[in-house]
Amino acid sequence: MHRLLLLATAGAIAGVTLVALDARTPQPSTMLIRNAILIDGTGAAPVRGDLRVAGDRIVAVGTLAPVDGDRAIDAGGLALAPGFIDTHSHHDRGLTTGRDALAMVSQGITTIVVGQDGGGSGLATLFSRLEKEPVSVNVASYAGHGPLRSRVMGEDFKRKATADEVDRMKPLLQAEMDAGALGLSTGLEYDPGIYSDRSEVLALAKVAGDAGGRYISHVRSEDRWFWESIDEVIAIGRTHNMPVQISHIKLGMLDLWGQVGKAIAVLDQARASGVHLTADIYPYTYWQSNLGVFFPTRNFSDREEATFVLEHVTRAEEIIFSSFSRQPEYTGKTLAQVAVLRGTSNVQTLLDLLAEPGGSGAGIVARGMADSDVERLIQWPFANVCSDGQSTGLHPRGFGSFPRVLGPFVRDRKLFPVEEAVRKMTSLAAANVGLLNRGRLAAGHFADLVLFDPATVADRSDFGRAQAQAVGIHTVWVNGQIVFQDSKTTGTFSGRPIRRELPGRLR
Ligand SMILES: [Zn+2]
Repeated sequence: MHRLLLLATAGAIAGVTLVALDARTPQPSTMLIRNAILIDGTGAAPVRGDLRVAGDRIVAVGTLAPVDGDRAIDAGGLALAPGFIDTHSHHDRGLTTGRDALAMVSQGITTIVVGQDGGGSGLATLFSRLEKEPVSVNVASYAGHGPLRSRVMGEDFKRKATADEVDRMKPLLQAEMDAGALGLSTGLEYDPGIYSDRSEVLALAKVAGDAGGRYISHVRSEDRWFWESIDEVIAIGRTHNMPVQISHIKLGMLDLWGQVGKAIAVLDQARASGVHLTADIYPYTYWQSNLGVFFPTRNFSDREEATFVLEHVTRAEEIIFSSFSRQPEYTGKTLAQVAVLRGTSNVQTLLDLLAEPGGSGAGIVARGMADSDVERLIQWPFANVCSDGQSTGLHPRGFGSFPRVLGPFVRDRKLFPVEEAVRKMTSLAAANVGLLNRGRLAAGHFADLVLFDPATVADRSDFGRAQAQAVGIHTVWVNGQIVFQDSKTTGTFSGRPIRRELPGRLR
């Protein structure tokens, strides 16, 4: 500072301007976004206005006049919203090679929450890597139940854990909580979590809850035992008085279609009784997983079970192969089409494919839901929007989820007004996973922003072209810096790791 003063003095003597040298009171660079329709994330009606950013934060919202040093950006009357928070994402899979996070930022997503479905481990390493080699989105994570089981039980995981084994999982989870995990995630329809019982999950959830964390779950069954699975999540929230979130909620079998009213009544009743229960949901009737997930007992030669699957869970015409290492020519074909090719019945084809090496791991996209049930669930006031997506794969959700809600669901189907859709992508999402200072257009919040055109925003990805970029997302800022503009990423890596900030227990 002293040297600068001297230089300034010397400059004055030489008669040159001092502006560039006056570093005594450094001002953060400010940006003024003018002439926007502000959708602030709270659900309030859109209003015309301006927003000022200094450094990585929003500093003012309202009708603002430019001040010296403002870099002005004309929003041209487009909608300005908080950046979208994807509370259930698998997009971390490609982030090391695709640091610009195209699949995410092209949808307006500025924060992804990973470690889902019982995955998620080594968070201290993940977060320090993201600090050394940042990406274009913020990343928060849950700690997964699966890695805890794997480390304690190894290959011998196809059973309940003993009390001693559960005790050995606890400090491993505590270490992840200390590293900044948002809470515990489970994937109870997948190996190895499927072999756990409720007492094991309860014991581990307590560790997360005691650390101020939450519980998020791909529930034990999205089809046959749906009601018991929802009850399990509610029991965890009630027992430990901790927030619990149902991941990508769905009524995932033919026999459940149309029971959405009953499901919402169960959720509302739990909330009314004091359980802090929420959910996330993606706007598609199809899910993506593997063929083996249809068989909860993992008995892949069970003909009765195979018959039950195709009659009561998902029709053969609505099971599409996304990857099958031994039969790459099946990619994009339905189980019914493959059955025709092979000249066998649908049930026999399912059994035959499962009997092949790698058969149960074959990637599939399959219909789980009725359109009308998706519509009712996504309207539930405590359900926030997620993608469950990734940057590769056959499912269009990886590139299309958020624009699909803003476009078709808001504009065409009129499920809710645009401000409610934005609330479900921002402040509600932040609250449901415990993020502070993101998700609203408010002074003091981080400047994660998305400028979009409500009249044109829409998904373009579909089955067969899953990586097609959405339209109508104009500009995206992450921590005050533009990461996406003119339909392209900018190569600015201003995303940050987000460690747990909010105590989970509310009372
Ligand atoms: Zn899942």
